[in-house]
Amino acid sequence: MKYIVAVDGPSGAGKSTVSKLVAEKLGIAYLDTGAMYRALALKIVNEKTDLPAPFEKGEKAGKLEALLADTEIEERDGRIFLDGRDVSGYIRMPEVAMIASASSALPEVRAKLVAIQRKHGERWSVIADGRDIGSNVFPGAKYKFYLTASPEERARRRRLELKEKGLDIPFEKVLSDINERDYADANRKVNPLTVAEGAEMLVTDGISAEQAADFIAEKVRAGETGS
Ligand code: C5P
Repeated sequence: MKYIVAVDGPSGAGKSTVSKLVAEKLGIAYLDTGAMYRALALKIVNEKTDLPAPFEKGEKAGKLEALLADTEIEERDGRIFLDGRDVSGYIRMPEVAMIASASSALPEVRAKLVAIQRKHGERWSVIADGRDIGSNVFPGAKYKFYLTASPEERARRRRLELKEKGLDIPFEKVLSDINERDYADANRKVNPLTVAEGAEMLVTDGISAEQAADFIAEKVRAGETGS
């Protein structure tokens, strides 16, 4: 039987590490929706497109619409493709994350990417992570989780992740970026970060990704949904 596991939460809560592990444990597909927003942000940066304000009409909005119509984003085998090119190695920089956050507040951007995400859910069982998975992309998901941790713990993890990719960024800068992005993601008008109805909250301070993944996989195996 096909089913969907929705994992939402703020930046650096460990969603993607945990979701990947759960996907392996359950033998289902993993969808990293943040990677789609980041890939699109990369194109916005490369093409030097000025973003309109949400719901603004006019020249900037027209240019963004044209860019969206001419953009192909595809996630396959854990890689993210922008217009047919594998850009997985280019989307983790903090600058790309900030533009991803800014552009993800625009309804036309969300409409395009949510449509792609829903197609994945139609085809096979999937665990998807993001900000609006349980509340908007797959509100009917059988399993919903909200992963979080203290901002300091999340900044510590994000800093390690960046370091592994060769980016040495001061802790204070990572923390302030995380706080800024969380605030923007939680306070935007369209599909903000929120705890979806029925989602089970999992605070990951002091627990490993493996433990968090076991917790989720067990709930799914037992057929237990959130509260
Ligand atoms: O999860 P990740 O940090 O890769 O996401 C980058 C940005 O994409 C987030 O800060 C958020 O603004 C946006 N995003 C979103 N909805 C999702 C996933 C990501 O708005 N479902």
